[in-house]
Amino acid sequence: IGAAHPLVSERDQNFRVRTDEGRQCVLKIANSAEDSAVVDFQIQALSRIAALDPTLPVPRLCCTRDGKSVHTIEHRGRSHLVYMLTFLEGKTLDDVPTSAVLRRELGAVLARLSRSLRGLFHAAAGRELLWDLKHALRLRAYVEQIDEPNHRRLAKQVLDRFEACVLPTLPGLRAQVVHNDLNPNNVIVHPDDNARVTGVIDFGDMVHAPLVADLAVAVAYQLFDQADPLVAACDLVAGYHAIVALEEVELALLLDLVATRLAVSGIIASWRAKEHPENRDYILIDAPFIWSTLEAVTDLSRSAALQAFREACELGIVHNEDGAASTPSNSASLRVRRERSLGRTLELSYDEPLHIVRGEGAWLYDADGRAYLDAYNNVAHVGHCHPRVTAALVQQARRLNTNTRYLHDHIVAYAERLASTLPGDLGVCFFVCTGSEANDLALRIARTVTGGNGAIVTDNAYHGNTDTTMQVSPEELPGDDRSEWVATVPAPNPYSGPHRSGEQNIAERYAAYVDRALAELETRGHRLGAFMFDSIFTSDGIVVAPDGYLSAIFNKVRAAGGVCIADEVQAGFGRTGETLWCFARHGVVPDIVTLGKPMGNGHPIAAVITTSEIARTFSRNQHYFNTFGGNPVSCAVGLSVLDVLEEEGLQENAKCVGEHLRTHLVPLIDHHPIIGEVRGTGLFVGIELVKDRTTRSPAPDEARAVLNAMRERGVLIGRTGLHGHVLKIRPPLVFSRENADHLVDTLDEVLTQYGRTPEVADAR
Ligand code: PMP
Repeated sequence: IGAAHPLVSERDQNFRVRTDEGRQCVLKIANSAEDSAVVDFQIQALSRIAALDPTLPVPRLCCTRDGKSVHTIEHRGRSHLVYMLTFLEGKTLDDVPTSAVLRRELGAVLARLSRSLRGLFHAAAGRELLWDLKHALRLRAYVEQIDEPNHRRLAKQVLDRFEACVLPTLPGLRAQVVHNDLNPNNVIVHPDDNARVTGVIDFGDMVHAPLVADLAVAVAYQLFDQADPLVAACDLVAGYHAIVALEEVELALLLDLVATRLAVSGIIASWRAKEHPENRDYILIDAPFIWSTLEAVTDLSRSAALQAFREACELGIVHNEDGAASTPSNSASLRVRRERSLGRTLELSYDEPLHIVRGEGAWLYDADGRAYLDAYNNVAHVGHCHPRVTAALVQQARRLNTNTRYLHDHIVAYAERLASTLPGDLGVCFFVCTGSEANDLALRIARTVTGGNGAIVTDNAYHGNTDTTMQVSPEELPGDDRSEWVATVPAPNPYSGPHRSGEQNIAERYAAYVDRALAELETRGHRLGAFMFDSIFTSDGIVVAPDGYLSAIFNKVRAAGGVCIADEVQAGFGRTGETLWCFARHGVVPDIVTLGKPMGNGHPIAAVITTSEIARTFSRNQHYFNTFGGNPVSCAVGLSVLDVLEEEGLQENAKCVGEHLRTHLVPLIDHHPIIGEVRGTGLFVGIELVKDRTTRSPAPDEARAVLNAMRERGVLIGRTGLHGHVLKIRPPLVFSRENADHLVDTLDEVLTQYGRTPEVADAR
């Protein structure tokens, strides 16, 4: 055994040691006053967990050479029990930002622990322990030690309630040995993944108690500093219940037990601070959180809490005596109901999901009225709920909405107006409802007119969610599941792609990958139908292609008999600043263009636009009808979006504010080594985060942490790229210079704060 480093402990002496084999362990020397039965109790519990749930991350016992778990040593006439446990690596839960995912995981881990301890019998489980909630009333004697009168009153009130309403019910609850101290210092989290619990330690407070008391202890600590304590509590309840089903009576007592634990913690801290004045500051370190959380918990309505807990456990609605359903906290119950009714495939954005109820311009507002600067939603292109657009929608919806098999002015006017913005002979529109439908149809047209079914797309492209467009969306589809008719090429990212800035003929080098893709398709027996590209390569990390790249590819594709499809679903309608359509900045004219997302400012409308010749060839062989695509309401909305774009000069705004934004983001590179590159055009900005500027290795965990921290500070951004390490900034085009400055300042603040955390500094 190597050097021993002492660890902080209340009762025992603990040392961190490294064994000859390089394993990290904790050597524990029990206090000589410690009852040997208590040590034995812990050893029995750990052995039992190791046997019953071997993957549950708790310390493992290390045996002595003669196979014993405990050894007795004599020192200065006293005997001490000595034993050794494995050391669990990671950060404590106290050091990581809490999140819904983490709380659920914590609930689940605690439930697994309860399940393993079920049935354990040990005499020491019945010992007297101050922290045993069954005996909370013993602390009445110490309430007077609380200095602050309001806190004293609160503590008394909680104990009174415990005596009157909880204590009589406790004997009827299922009880067993429980951990009884799942506080954040006793939980270890994975060093690189803040949502994964990798350890539970400190079994010194185990006791035989009602099962739900264990959950109450864990919940109490997770409510510190939470804006909506009920939402946080429900996360733990749901995580726990998924492993060990909670009973109705337990749910009914949970809130009171949480309050009791908080009161117990507050009383014990006040009392100990009086006993040890020299250590007062340390003992009272959590006191402000304890009292403010207790206030928040006692303010909650019990029936709303019970309803929210029941919903978290999928137990349905309880009706009040008057027959009305009681209303739980909105966000908490919405999340639970959402998961039940929508399933889990549809993930929510951010670790702490948002409950948005209103939007205006570049701002979104949540259910509590908090404003968020929206630097992410490109669909609300001319600003959330633009009055001109909503008026156009309402007016037309009041007059007529039907399908495109009738003559109507709007649809023709809209098609003509779109065609007038496009170069060459791109003048025939097919109206659909989504970007995916548009790309699906574009591929069908390409196949019909070329006779080839092969397609070339970039390595991490996204083009849609239909069966066919999924195949050309490698971002969504693991390599093994991809069809033979798809070949990929790297996006032309001169910062971290295979060819980097400074290399000669970079555009040609990137374009040459198309030759390889064509050869691959040929080997697999597929002739080229189409090269489909997102004009700003969004999901490949937001890349402005080098000059000459697209024209070189267009030549190769057309020589191979294929057509070129510009997917402008993300990049179109002036976002990229210099041109209305992003492909146009590269001086190319595609054969087919697809539009979507921003087209209706939130109303579902999308389109495929192609040349009259291609349209004619297609219509000779095929029909296409889309019930909702191009209906009069959609077209009225689409026309109004074009009007607003023009009248408010939003393409110009995207250009100027985008430039302003990048000009102020670039200097952050000097202060924050994590920023590799700031790039983009107009109001489409990517910030590539790297662990190391020399190797340019991606920093996806950091990107995730940054966007969650931005959300905490009220600014919404996203992330993208092959590794999810490129911050994605894509606001409504009404974004102002002040909005841009606010975003830059917030990002600077977040990165400064983040740069201070040692783990991230190490990661670089
Ligand atoms: N193409 C691109 C480039 C996209 O970004 C998207 C949507 N993210 C689509 C197509 C699909 O659009 P939708 O979700 O409207 O089907």
